Amino acid sequence: MVFVIKGKSIILFGPPGAGKGTQSGLISTMTGKPQVSTGDMLREAVTDGSEVGREAKSYMDRGLLVPDEIIMQLIKMRLSRDDAMGGLLFDGFPRTIPQAMALETLTDVSMVISLVVGDDEIVSRITGRRTDPETGEIYHLEYKPAPQHIRGRLLQRDDDTEDTVRNRLSTFHKQTAPLSDFYREKGILIEIDGSGDIKQVSSSIEAIIDAKSGE
Ligand code: AMP
Repeated sequence: MVFVIKGKSIILFGPPGAGKGTQSGLISTMTGKPQVSTGDMLREAVTDGSEVGREAKSYMDRGLLVPDEIIMQLIKMRLSRDDAMGGLLFDGFPRTIPQAMALETLTDVSMVISLVVGDDEIVSRITGRRTDPETGEIYHLEYKPAPQHIRGRLLQRDDDTEDTVRNRLSTFHKQTAPLSDFYREKGILIEIDGSGDIKQVSSSIEAIIDAKSGE
């Protein structure tokens, strides 16, 4: 069943490696809202070799945030597409208070689902993370092993090494974590324990979306 919360966007929030990319498909299917990941958009720009991509890469490789102006340009372009009319599911955006404030002028946000996971678990999750370039499916060497026949083609993201992960976490705590308070004060923050296994976290998310759709 598809629950459309019309015209309003949803934010999937959490530190890098909290499982946002893994859980976003479920939320997108349940709500009918297209998933938008600024990280994916930036990686595409890097692969295309565009000017935005070249500039973004220098920040991404160091585990730093890409400047707000670049991110807001991407978001404005995405929101202008027809399929954004019913709201979008943002994954990895906003990541700073100025981004959150700019978003307020562009779309209504109905809920912010925050996946809470501790730093040590994140480091182990991210360094074992591998992506299938053909399907975009995310695997983990230990927690979600890929089928044997596709293992040879799996890729590790350039910024998924331990040093960069530590920098990304420190960036998260300094610049992004304050957004929890921003959305808590608005009464739309829903915190979920993201440390369980994938299915457990999915069930918690499902229960919340069911409950919100019935309101
Ligand atoms: P992600 O795939 O969401 O972990 O993003 C990978 C990298 O892209 C981050 O470490 C940042 O360098 C950059 N990035 C993604 N989304 C944003 C954003 N909303 N604001 C600033 N930088 C971003």
